[in-house]
Amino acid sequence: MLRAYKYALNPTPRQARFLDGHCGAARKAFNWGLARVKAVMDQRSAEASYGIPDQLLTPAISWSMYSLRKAWNRAKSDVAPWWAEYSKEAYASGLTQLATALKNWADSRKARRGGRSVGFPRFKSKRTAVRSCRLTTGVIRCDERYAVLPRIGRMRLHETPAPELLDGTARILAATIRFERGRWFVSFTVEQDTPVRAPDRPDAVVGVDLGIKSLAVMAEPDGEPHTVPNLKHLDTSLRKLGKLSRRVSRRVGPDRRTGRVPSNRWKRANGQRNRVHHRVAYQRADALHKFTSAIAAEYGTVVVEDLNVAGMLKNKRLARRVGDAGFGEIRRQLAYKTEWNGGRLVVADRWFPSSKTCSGCGVVKAKLLLSERLYVCESCGLVMDRDENAARNLAALAVAASGAETLNGRGADQKTRATGQVAVKRLPGSPQHQTGTALPKAGSV
Ligand SMILES: [Zn+2]
Repeated sequence: MLRAYKYALNPTPRQARFLDGHCGAARKAFNWGLARVKAVMDQRSAEASYGIPDQLLTPAISWSMYSLRKAWNRAKSDVAPWWAEYSKEAYASGLTQLATALKNWADSRKARRGGRSVGFPRFKSKRTAVRSCRLTTGVIRCDERYAVLPRIGRMRLHETPAPELLDGTARILAATIRFERGRWFVSFTVEQDTPVRAPDRPDAVVGVDLGIKSLAVMAEPDGEPHTVPNLKHLDTSLRKLGKLSRRVSRRVGPDRRTGRVPSNRWKRANGQRNRVHHRVAYQRADALHKFTSAIAAEYGTVVVEDLNVAGMLKNKRLARRVGDAGFGEIRRQLAYKTEWNGGRLVVADRWFPSSKTCSGCGVVKAKLLLSERLYVCESCGLVMDRDENAARNLAALAVAASGAETLNGRGADQKTRATGQVAVKRLPGSPQHQTGTALPKAGSV
C-alpha cells in the first residue's frame, strides 16, 4: 500500500535557497520542454493551413517522459549552463510533470479521461507557480529528526517522524519538497504493509450530516443525535484579517498594469496578513483530521450525503462558510480513513431527501425551506432539529442498504434500490473523485 507522510521542514537559510534552486530547475525544464512541444505543434498547424499534405509536415515530436529527458540532456548545456548545480532529479521532475500534463490534455481531448476537461499546459511563472520538486532516486531516508535527501543532504524536520519511517518497516520510494503557505515541506511516498485494523465498534452505523450552522451532526439509527460545533477559526481570525487587509490596502502595492513595484511597508503588511491566513488554514486542517480520524476509528459504517460542493461554492452566500468547514475535504478524508480502518463509507445519492424525510415515520415533505431550522412532522408530530433529523435518516439509510449491497468491493459505482426511493452508491477512493478544499490563498482576501 502506498501512503504519504508529510512533514514541515526547518531548513537553514542556505538549504532553503538550495531547495528553491531545485524547484526553479524543475520549472526551467518544464518551460523549456513545453516551449519545444508548442513550437513544433504551431509549425505543423501553420503548414497544414497552407495545404501541405500530412506526410510532408514537420515531424511531430514525442512528448513521453523518456524522449523529453533525452532531448533535455542534449540541450541542457545551452539552455541552462548552470545545470550541474542541482540534482538531475530536479529536471526529471519538471519533465515528468510536463509529460503528465500533456497526456492529460490529450486524453481529455479524446474523451479518454473522466472529470473536468483539461486544458493545454501553461508556462510556469516564477512568481505564481507552486514551488515543488520530486526526488525519486538516491538515498532518501529519515534519520532521527532529519530528512536525508540526495544532493540536498540532512535537513531538520519540524517534528519527530513516524516510527515506521525510522525502523525501516516503511520503504521510502520518493520525496517531494514543496513550498506552501510560507514554509517548506517534505512529503515521503512510502510503501508499507497495511496494518490490520478494525473500528472500535464494527457493527455501529453513524450518519454524518454536514451542516452550515454546525460542522456536522452525527446520529446513530436509534441514538440521540450529537452536534459537532463548527470550526470558527476563520471567524475569530476574520477581524484580525480585516484589520490587516485595510492596512495592506492603504499602502503602495504592486500594479501590473503600470508596473509599479510594491513598497517595503506594503510587503511587510502583506506578510503579516498572509501569516494570519496560513495559521487559519493549519488550524482548520488539524481540526478536520482529528474529526474524521475519530469517526473512522469508532464506527464500522459511516454514511454521508453526496453534497454538490462545487455548486455550493458558486453560491456566494454559502461559499465562505462551506469553504471554511471544508465539506469536500471531510468526505475525502472519511473515504480513505474508513478504508484504512477496515470500515466503510456509504455516500447517499445526491437526490436522497435526507432533510425532507421524517426520521420518525418516513413521510417525505414536499417542501422544506433552508430557513426552517426545526423539522416538524405533520403526520406523527415529531419535532426535531433539522440537521439531527437528517443525520438520523442517513444512519437509517445504511441499515436499510446493508442487506442489499455488496460492500467490500472497490469497483465501479454500485447503485442499489434500497427502500424504493433511495439509491446508495459506494464512493470510489481514487483521487480523481476527490473534491478539493477551498483553502484561502496567500494574499487573497
Ligand atoms: Zn413523522
